[in-house]
Amino acid sequence: MIPYGRQDIRQEDIDAVVEILRSDFLTQGPTVPAFEAAVVERVGASHGVATNSATSALHLACLALGAGPGDVVWTSPSTFVASANCARYCGADVDFVDIDPRTWNMSVAALREKLEQAERDRRLPKIVIPVHLCGQPCEMESIGELARQYGFKVLEDASHAIGARYQGEPIGNCHHSDIAVFSFHPVKIITTGEGGLATTRDPELADRMRLLRTHGVTRDPGQMVGESLGPWYYEQVALGFNYRMTDMQAALGLSQLRRLDELVASRHELARAYDAALADLPLQLPYNHPDTYSSLHLYPVRLRLDRINRTYREVFEELRRREIGVNLHYIPVHTQPYYRELGFSVGQFPEAERYHAEAVSLPMFPTLEKEQQEEVVRVLQEALEA
Ligand SMILES: *Cc1c(COP(=O)(O)O)cnc(C)c1O
Repeated sequence: MIPYGRQDIRQEDIDAVVEILRSDFLTQGPTVPAFEAAVVERVGASHGVATNSATSALHLACLALGAGPGDVVWTSPSTFVASANCARYCGADVDFVDIDPRTWNMSVAALREKLEQAERDRRLPKIVIPVHLCGQPCEMESIGELARQYGFKVLEDASHAIGARYQGEPIGNCHHSDIAVFSFHPVKIITTGEGGLATTRDPELADRMRLLRTHGVTRDPGQMVGESLGPWYYEQVALGFNYRMTDMQAALGLSQLRRLDELVASRHELARAYDAALADLPLQLPYNHPDTYSSLHLYPVRLRLDRINRTYREVFEELRRREIGVNLHYIPVHTQPYYRELGFSVGQFPEAERYHAEAVSLPMFPTLEKEQQEEVVRVLQEALEA
């Protein structure tokens, strides 16, 4: 089976991890701060907080931004469930903004309209979480303007988007947001096995996330309620978690980060080949917004079901039967049983629902070979024609 995504691990990555295994610190050593500093430098942010997953980082970010019971957090329905769950962990309510039918990201027009209504209802969101779907950045300038106008915080779910650029600048610099979060799961752009990282320009948000990453326990006299009684003294000043990344993971991340540009460039090469080979098939191909340089985490195509004689299920199953590990990103979050239980229903976000009824993520990862990609194209073409 050719998977839809997979990691690219080389000897230098293995050596970097082995070096940590032979060192004094497997965790809480110098490599996590070094990885944080390297990512911050790479994306042009001021602070970085590494975690054991992007899900944890999203949770810490929502807490640091003050989400709690009575608040509402908005995100896109076309995302992984973690983009919405992070608000639920804080006791906040979740709502969704439908997607743009062309970029498949949160629609700025729909966001503006929903904000106008929310203002009339006195139920404005505390945080909006735009998701850079497939690695293509959202329209952050407009979202940032709306944030200032309506007074909400912006948390970028950049899980797909390390290495991406918006208006020529790296995603993660938080130019139009408060916090951005990357994921380093093995299918993403670079990996630490499991892992995530939050970037921000605000030192207080960074301190808050660091505190909550380690149980809410501090050894910094500046964060203590009382006075430090000596070098043994620590205080728990909030209810935090163990969301730490290990030094083994950070070493892998540092090693991978060195190849970031190269990894994204090979995804672009594959995308160009798909664009050309699939242009005449009954498909809607990914659209490149002129303000963006995508990291191309995913390459979904939308089936033009009105122009083929097969159902979505038939095409998908045919691809899988012929060893093409296609996938669906994503089932709209509001249609999941957990969210329907909270009151959401099918039909509420029609663009996201239409997208999910047509989208098939094709294999897209740096080590996908030319012959494998040609096989994907051939099988897809036959599956659509049958
Ligand atoms: C992968 C992913 C996450 C969660 O990342 P983990 O590191 O696996 O916790 C969150 N949001 C989106 C959009 C993702 O794709």
